[in-house]
Amino acid sequence: VIEIGQPDRSVVTTCAYCGVGCSFKAEMRGDELVRMVPYKDGKANRGHSCVKGRFAYGYASHRDRILNPMIRDTIDEPWREVSWQEALTFAADRMRGIQKTYGKDSIGVITSSRCTNEETYLVQKLARGIFGNNNTDTCARVCHSPTGYGLGQTFGTSAGTQDFDSVEDTDVVIVIGANPTDGHPVFASRLKKRLRQGAQLIVIDPRRIDLVRSPHIQAAHHLPLRPGTNVAVVTALAHVIVTEGLFDEAFVRERCDWDEFQDYAEFVSDPIHSPEAVELLTGVDPEELRAAARLYATGGNGAIYYGLGVTEHSQGSTTVIGIANLAMLTGNIGRRGVGVNPLRGQNNVQGSCDMGSFPHELPGYRHVKNADVRQIFEELWGVEISEEPGLRIPNMLDAAVDGTFKGLYCQGEDILQSDPDTRHVSAGLAAMECVIVHDLFLNETANYAHVFLPGSTFLEKDGTFTNAERRINRVRKVMAPRNGYADWEITQMLANAMGGNWSYGHPSEIMAEIAMTTPSFANVTYELLEEKGSVQWPCNDKTPDGSPIMHVDGFVRGKGRFIRTDYVATDEKTGPRFPLLLTTGRILSQYNVGAQTRRTANVVWHDEDVLEIHPHDAENRGIKEGDWVKIASRSGETSLRARITDRVSPGVVYTTFHHPTTQANVITTDFSDWATNCPEYKVTAVQVSPSNGP
Ligand code: SF4
Repeated sequence: VIEIGQPDRSVVTTCAYCGVGCSFKAEMRGDELVRMVPYKDGKANRGHSCVKGRFAYGYASHRDRILNPMIRDTIDEPWREVSWQEALTFAADRMRGIQKTYGKDSIGVITSSRCTNEETYLVQKLARGIFGNNNTDTCARVCHSPTGYGLGQTFGTSAGTQDFDSVEDTDVVIVIGANPTDGHPVFASRLKKRLRQGAQLIVIDPRRIDLVRSPHIQAAHHLPLRPGTNVAVVTALAHVIVTEGLFDEAFVRERCDWDEFQDYAEFVSDPIHSPEAVELLTGVDPEELRAAARLYATGGNGAIYYGLGVTEHSQGSTTVIGIANLAMLTGNIGRRGVGVNPLRGQNNVQGSCDMGSFPHELPGYRHVKNADVRQIFEELWGVEISEEPGLRIPNMLDAAVDGTFKGLYCQGEDILQSDPDTRHVSAGLAAMECVIVHDLFLNETANYAHVFLPGSTFLEKDGTFTNAERRINRVRKVMAPRNGYADWEITQMLANAMGGNWSYGHPSEIMAEIAMTTPSFANVTYELLEEKGSVQWPCNDKTPDGSPIMHVDGFVRGKGRFIRTDYVATDEKTGPRFPLLLTTGRILSQYNVGAQTRRTANVVWHDEDVLEIHPHDAENRGIKEGDWVKIASRSGETSLRARITDRVSPGVVYTTFHHPTTQANVITTDFSDWATNCPEYKVTAVQVSPSNGP
């Protein structure tokens, strides 16, 4: 930490890293940020924090930040610094010119889960209200879009059912496809505290994550499944619960659709779904699986926490549905200590989805086909909104390669580094005639941009983030934007340069519009947030103080819906050329592609990605600890250093994706979730061999 004298004032704001949403006091001396102190009254963190939120904010003043707008006619030319007016006029003229030539659907936007609710609301409004199409998507496409689909179909809305406090009343916890110790550290501490008090733990993960065995914690069951077989394992858990009569019939009869349950019960009872029948496929010991199912069904309050190891698969949506089925089967919904809880990776994944960033949904998860909902926005915005869903990110890129999609406004997201199949992303970007990158740094996507609009950091703006427990937290301006404008102002200027007439004077006015149009936010105001500190949506006349727990008396959709979960094998197959399965994850100190964390002055943020490989697989290949290895897939290859460990099973290798030199997405496939196109980052067939380095 660089301390610059004693602070003379402080501002309470919210961490811009993960979905826990910790509150901090930003302590200032003059215009300098002296330190970030975890805020003891923060309801998500209660005075705790992790290393990222506390120390990794140096990127805000890093020399790499771009502070002036830049334009260029073609991507082969050098950038030219210009005034804001010239940059916005250039961008607006190009985008309008493209629409004139190729039609109004030839341009679109991508929003970011790093941005505030208010910024995200404006970006989707830019597409719908100014561009005249539904071509809006969010980076949640590549992480939790299956959560949106799966929980929407079963429960009626896309959100975690509980508050974090709920974990204090949990008796049995299933952690599936998540590593909270690294991904959600402050929540992990609360979970570990409960486990030390005696709650039982079931871990379903290909890797022996820290929670399986750490000081004073021993998971009751670890199911180290083969990557890509989540659906088979989750369905086998349901098989045991149903065939052994362990389900909560009273809950199912009262709260769920009984006819659909009967169909589902018949489906899961088929012996082909038994733990013994799926052992060969999943690699999971049937007795362990049976014991885990019995424990979850009979051990008291059961809560499920899951992450991207569930969603980033070709059957991500099916697994989310399967998890929801388990909770309904056992009556673990609607009270403290239970529930289904997606652990959101970025700070505002929940909010960016809530705000209508998806091409088929208006704010509040209402389909664009719903004429009554469209009418609310049409009357307010004075436009006509199409009832046709727009393009998702992969469809935008496909259309760009095909020559029908030509212009993109991309706020706060480096799609070239984050999205799968890097070659396809670059081909799509290269085919566009106007790419507007709005970001802090000249990222990889900016190599293909014609306009660069400098962004502001979370320290430089007002707004709100919504964390993984639906808690709407205030983000407060700590210092003036070094680039001159907050991001919501820049989107407004672009909208007006394209003929809009927006006149928001402060993000609180944007929130007022959100509350006016979105029932689950109806009572949310900045005054209420000041009074309460934060509130959890739904926050409206029925629940004026917000809703820590959802689906208490009934599901949002009415009756809970059981849906069959047929297992379909991924198209990504191992074979003689690519015999190992690669899966990916995070480490505590880094954040996504590292654009922020790597720009922090401390060596902890400058380590490199490594490849975890089992001792047998390493020995077979003549690989020793710390050796450079080449990892190759059908898509491409890259080099990493090897870490030999039995945290991974034989046949499975694992790496993180934080460093641009690693280029993990050069090797990932272009397979994706059947319902949402969320990429299958978690399963890639690879070969690993010794190498001399990159
Ligand atoms: Fe809290 Fe997550 Fe920020 Fe760490 S990264 S301080 S856990 S919000």
